[in-house]
Amino acid sequence: MTSQVSVEVSGIDFAAAHFVSEGGTCEQLHGHNYHVTVTVYGEIDPQGMVIDFRKLKRRVRQLCKQWDHFILLPNQSKLIKTTQKAQQVEVQTPNGTYSFPTKDVRIINVVETTAEELARFLCLKLKDELSSDFDNITQIQVILAESATSRAIVSMSV
Ligand SMILES: [Zn+2]
Repeated sequence: MTSQVSVEVSGIDFAAAHFVSEGGTCEQLHGHNYHVTVTVYGEIDPQGMVIDFRKLKRRVRQLCKQWDHFILLPNQSKLIKTTQKAQQVEVQTPNGTYSFPTKDVRIINVVETTAEELARFLCLKLKDELSSDFDNITQIQVILAESATSRAIVSMSV
């Protein structure tokens, strides 16, 4: 008999700055303390686990650490354009042009750095990592909360 079980890790946080463009305009640069919750669905393995909590937490922490205390910028936005110039990243937006030190910026393969897109990106990365190491995992869900009342939820089959 097979059973579908899920395990969940939470309390993984990172702080980052961003702005989102929409409808020809762009938000002010601002930050969030993001909270990440990951649920992994699958079958219980011979050791009695879907996945070791510690291993899952370590992977999620590693992914989030890449963004912690950085300015997150999209590379597929129609309105936010980034250009590398020496040690600076120049960012053209409908509201004006920013210039950030390259070391403080993370450019992410998303349309916009919305909670939805960031959650989808994290889910995709986790899916890639976990699907190559585990054959009992069937689905991954990532919840990315940018405030106590606003969160994006993305699920992917493995
Ligand atoms: Zn925001």
